[in-house]
Amino acid sequence: NDIMDITMPWFGMDIGGSLSKLVYFEPKDSTKAELDSEVDSVRNIRKYLTKNSAYGKTGHRDTHLQLNDIFIRGRRGTLHFIRFPTSEMKNFLALAKSKGMANFVTTVCATGGGAYKFENDFQREVNMKLAKYDEFDSLLKGLQFVDSYNRKECYYWSNPTDESLCKKEEYDFSNPYPFLLVNIGSGVSMLAVNSPSSFKRVSGTSLGGGTFLGLCCLLTGCNTFEEAIELAASGDSTRVDKLVRDIYGGDYARFGLPGDLVASSFGHMNSRDKRSKVKREDLARATLVTITNNIGSIARMCAIQEKIDRVVFIGNFLRVNPIAMKLLAYAMDYWSKGTMKALFLEHEGYLGAVGCLLQYHQ
Ligand code: ADP
Repeated sequence: NDIMDITMPWFGMDIGGSLSKLVYFEPKDSTKAELDSEVDSVRNIRKYLTKNSAYGKTGHRDTHLQLNDIFIRGRRGTLHFIRFPTSEMKNFLALAKSKGMANFVTTVCATGGGAYKFENDFQREVNMKLAKYDEFDSLLKGLQFVDSYNRKECYYWSNPTDESLCKKEEYDFSNPYPFLLVNIGSGVSMLAVNSPSSFKRVSGTSLGGGTFLGLCCLLTGCNTFEEAIELAASGDSTRVDKLVRDIYGGDYARFGLPGDLVASSFGHMNSRDKRSKVKREDLARATLVTITNNIGSIARMCAIQEKIDRVVFIGNFLRVNPIAMKLLAYAMDYWSKGTMKALFLEHEGYLGAVGCLLQYHQ
């Protein structure tokens, strides 16, 4: 109905185990008559969302990800990308209420486990209904949509085995099928995707982004993801991990295992002497390397099993995390002898939120 179309702001939400992702579509093609008839609270909300990049203490808008000239349900507009910790949901709802959202937003498209967990809170606190969608359907719809609008969406790391030459390069993902999708959120899910509508979940692991952050906080006393990544960036994991050369004195040539390969993650840490010399940075780095290599190894086995050679890694674990991306690129390339490729997406953490917004039909 037309009135709804004019006044309803458009939201898609992916409420995950760690982060809530909110995508807001701002129509840009409204006529003067439409704008004049707009109620104040709708205008105020739009201004609040689009003029700020921080909301409350913990909400952030990723302005560098904003997409302009997007068409959704026949309207032209801008997509905005906002995130906040799911642990702050109560505050988010209170903020939404104080901004008057309860008065005019009737339905929010939602996916992720939180769409179920918080459904009653949305109804009670802000009188909003959640239109719920499956998270994997949403992920794939969002991926196709975002990639079709953003030529630079998909990229890879060239020369992953040579640190000095390794750099980010665009990848033409217009012919994507089949591919393995590895979503590294709090936990990890792996999907074999054969066409826009045909996919299956082939594997997963509970050792994911949540594990990295949890262990890092325990081991280093850090408190945020950003801090954990910063520590890792200046750490040396070989002070923590036992390498092949620590055991063999060099390469294990018979089976082609190089000396600098990790033989035992955290394997040095049973030694009191080594523990006394290790720095927080080293522990953060080793945690990052351990979790990332484990995911890379499972992903590679899944790709072999499914006879797929392109692996797309997404999820917020990869946010501001070039160390993990390069490691994954390296592991895929090295262990497959160059036959497999690791791919990445700029909107890595927001695909589910975009996809559920697209699925809405009045
Ligand atoms: P989920 O849907 O399970 O919340 P995400 O794809 O949003 O999954 O990824 C969550 C993971 O992203 C966290 O476990 C953490 O490793 C990483 N991460 C990146 N940025 C942040 C942040 N600002 N706060 C918390 N975790 C973050």
